[in-house]
Parts: sequence; C-alpha cells; structure tokens
Amino acid sequence: MTEQLHSAVCPLCPQHCVVAEGGVGRCRARGCLGGRMTSLTYGQVAAMHVDPIEKKPLFHFYPGSSILSVGGNGCNLRCSFCQNYEISQQKVRGRDFRPAELAGVAQAENSLGICFTYSEPLVWFETVLETAALVKEAGGKTVLVTNGVIMPRYLGQLLDVIDAVNIDVKAFTDEFYRTHTGGRLSWVLRSVELLAARGIHFEVSTLVIPGLNDGSEEIRGLAKYLRDLGVPLAWHLNRYYPAYMADYPPTPEQSLRKLATVGREYLPYVYLGNLRYDAASGSGMNTLCPTCQSVVVDRRDSVRVKVVDGKCPQCSAEIWGIWQTELVPYGREASKKNKKINHSEY
Ligand code: SF4
Repeated sequence: MTEQLHSAVCPLCPQHCVVAEGGVGRCRARGCLGGRMTSLTYGQVAAMHVDPIEKKPLFHFYPGSSILSVGGNGCNLRCSFCQNYEISQQKVRGRDFRPAELAGVAQAENSLGICFTYSEPLVWFETVLETAALVKEAGGKTVLVTNGVIMPRYLGQLLDVIDAVNIDVKAFTDEFYRTHTGGRLSWVLRSVELLAARGIHFEVSTLVIPGLNDGSEEIRGLAKYLRDLGVPLAWHLNRYYPAYMADYPPTPEQSLRKLATVGREYLPYVYLGNLRYDAASGSGMNTLCPTCQSVVVDRRDSVRVKVVDGKCPQCSAEIWGIWQTELVPYGREASKKNKKINHSEY
C-alpha cells in the first residue's frame, strides 16, 4: 500500500505556498502538519522592547508615548536590504508567551498597548490576532508594522483589533518588488487601499535606496498615489544603510531631503528617518502646521506636542492625528482571559 502524502496551499498571503507534509512555507513561520497549514511560531517571541511610538514610526498617533513592541521569526518577503534580517530571515530562539501573558507584560510596562513589529507580524497571524484582541478589550492600543503582504480577508480580520498601522511601500514599481523583495507591488497597494477604506489610522514608510527606488519621478508617482487615496496620512522617507545582502552606499542626506520636497508638493506630512539629528531644521522630524508652518510637534531632544484640541495653537488649523498625550493605562482583565481563535481555519 502506498503511503498518502499530504500537501496544503497556504491561504494567508498571496505567495500561496504549496507545502508538503512536514515542510515549511516561504516565510518559515508556517508549515503543513496533518495536511493543514498551521503556525509554527505561535507565541514565540524573538524580540521584545519598550520603544517610543515614534520609532515605529508613527508620528501622529499618541506622540511621546511608549509601547511594548514584540516580534516573532519569519517574513513572507526576501528583501536583500532587510534591516531586521536576524529575526526575519533567520531563526532566533526567544521565549514562549501565551497571548494573555504578552498582554500582561504590556500592562506591567505601563505602555500605550502593544506593537507587532521587527520581523513580519502578518505571518504570526494567530498570535497577533489573539493578543491584540486581549489588549484592545482591556483598553490598550494596538499597532501593526507591516510589509502589507496578506490576503484582504485576513487583513480585514486583523483590522478589527488593530488601531494603527505603519505599512511599508518599499518602491513604486513592480520591477523593484519582483527583483529585490520576492513580492508584488499590487499586493501591497491592495492592502494600503483596504486601510484607507476601513478608516484605520495609518502611516507609510519607504526606505530610500540609492539607484533602486530614489528616482524623483518614482517618488512623485507614489506621493500622488498616496494623495489620491483621499485620506489623511503621514509618509516617512527613511535613509538606507547597508545591511544583510545589500552593500549599496547609504542614501545621501541631500537626496533624501530633495525627495521629501517632492513628496511635500502632494502631502502635508512628509518626514525623514534614520538621519543624524539636525537641531536647526528638526531634521525633517518635526510636524509643521500645513497652514501656517509653525512647529506643532517638536521632536528635538524630546517630543513636545503643541497641538491643542487637535488644532494648531497659532492659526487654529486642524492637525491630523490622535493627540491625547496621556498614557492610557488599561485594566488588568486581559491577563485573566485567553481568547482562542480557531486554528483549523487554516
Ligand atoms: S504566509 Fe508564509 S506559508 Fe503562507 S503563503 Fe505566505 S509565505 Fe507562504
């Protein structure tokens, strides 16, 4: 009698890996067990820190607060320039946590809530969904930092329990995505459009790499696209440094500043990231009132929010964002519960 070997197609992200029994998918976080795709990294935390919310980066969401930030192993893209490759492309043996324990850590740290980041949280789907539900139920805030590569149905489920997102749009050409990430631009734009349609607070990040995605027309095209979504957002243009398999030189500061100028022709809130701090200019990190140009969030030294009731203190123009600066302490209930979702769905 011939032994029946199972295989499964993973429905979670558009890579749609076909995985043989006992094998793992492209992300290394999910595999086929018993003929069914399942999480192999459930509750395994590879990195955990309490970070300023600005580090995500989110500049218009509770500025000045701190948030417990956690990440598992694995990623469904293979970016040659990955800045977190130790946990996205390699396995770091961290600690096991149940979602209720993670929610409890966030409370103990007096954080705003919890942020799923560092590697790719979308391939840690069950852990993110269960933990975020607990944190949110107890009054905390939940943040996702993601590459946006997921099928809309599953992103929709996550967005039921996520308050804010930073999504990477790594470039504005499909060729870049195919060649340097193993993904597709259209997958990411579909997720961006879902965020916009759902009215989620989101900010966009682009790592600017010399010679790969730093053409001013490409940046102009992406800026126009983001403007035409018709929702308020912030855009972070981040300086690239050589990492993982990439050895392009770091992005020249001057070219990053020029590209930010192009972006600001279309969008009111464009920031520079990974730059040496320049106190005189605020290094592209301060938030300016789009109407009168006065500084409404000063990020020199520490974060000072001058916005009053969502408005510029100088000219009373509305400033987009969630400006409540007090930490939101949330109750202890989360640690007593441990909600499960149905893993057999996959
Ligand atoms: S989540 Fe992982 S296993 Fe599933 S399709 Fe995407 S890369 Fe493949």
